[in-house]
Amino acid sequence: MITEQLQFEIEKISQSRLHGLEEDSLQFGKVFTDHMFVADFIDGQWTNMKITPYKDLVLSPATSFIHYGQSIFEGLKAHYGKDGDVFMFRPQANIARMKTSAIRMCMPPFPEDIFLDALKTLLSLDKAWMPKKDGSSMYIRPFMFGTDEFLGVKASDNYRFMIIMSPSGSYYKNPVKVKIETHFTRAASGGTGSAKAAGNYAGSMYPAKLAAEEGYQQLIWTDGKYHRNIEESGTMNLMMVIDDVLVTPKLSNTILEGVTRNSILNIARDWGWKVEERTVSVEEVVEALENGKLHEAFGVGTAATIAQINTIGYEGKDYELPAVADREFSNKISTYLEDYKRGRVEDKFNYLVKID
Ligand SMILES: *Cc1c(COP(=O)(O)O)cnc(C)c1O
Repeated sequence: MITEQLQFEIEKISQSRLHGLEEDSLQFGKVFTDHMFVADFIDGQWTNMKITPYKDLVLSPATSFIHYGQSIFEGLKAHYGKDGDVFMFRPQANIARMKTSAIRMCMPPFPEDIFLDALKTLLSLDKAWMPKKDGSSMYIRPFMFGTDEFLGVKASDNYRFMIIMSPSGSYYKNPVKVKIETHFTRAASGGTGSAKAAGNYAGSMYPAKLAAEEGYQQLIWTDGKYHRNIEESGTMNLMMVIDDVLVTPKLSNTILEGVTRNSILNIARDWGWKVEERTVSVEEVVEALENGKLHEAFGVGTAATIAQINTIGYEGKDYELPAVADREFSNKISTYLEDYKRGRVEDKFNYLVKID
């Protein structure tokens, strides 16, 4: 348990809801642990901070975020590791990003030190819910939303911040068929694409549904103006191995800066790989596909870590990629990250936070 003085109360569940975790049938984000963290922003400060049993919310129908979308979230994971230890992967990065998202959406950031304490305490309390198998993890979902009971359009004065946790199996299992989207846009320049804002997801669902009707499981988003440059893959950052270089679109205000993206770039550079963060045009990717120079393409993000792409569709034509088994970089990084997150290799980059 945490020993230093906590700034929030803990109300423990009287009897755990856990009756054996059926690890083999665990899906993503469907089961929630015994406890959650809650805090309210009222009169200009964060208050009512506590851990309580997981339970439903009671909200006024006029609650502002429902109408005007001031709602942001994060996603991070904890893993069961060596010698039964539990490790969070780079929580400080998610805490910092949530602050960036909050500022963009005109919301008050939640205090970073209390945020980290809340994560540690929740994981410690609900340790029995940790799945143990490789590929599985505890998915942690912090989120915040405007709670004014008011239909006028303005930034909410009051907010709620929460953290819930969900033991999860692995996310995507098979390589995916993706389509380069040249009509719809995920994020426009100057918009909210670099914030983890709920509305960004809402806007991506209709284009994803249309693509699914054509047989594509995911979209590769392109720039909102001319649809000439590659941006992201679904809700993940996109990486490719072209010739012998690891290439990824450079950050901008239309790209969400993934913690996984950053981690992989750091590790690749440490391994001595050639790495390029730059503008990647659709034309270049199609040419590389035609000339057999595109050896690997994969999405990177917390939920799936690496989501292999085996087919890329562009303007009605499907291009097949080399077999997943032949992909040197992504297979190697995938194994390394799994070992890293479980404390089986040296914590060279200081990414792990161990739970007491
Ligand atoms: C969350 C997210 C990512 C991946 O970020 P991670 O920190 O690696 O999980 C990438 N793109 C979008 C649009 C996202 O919302």
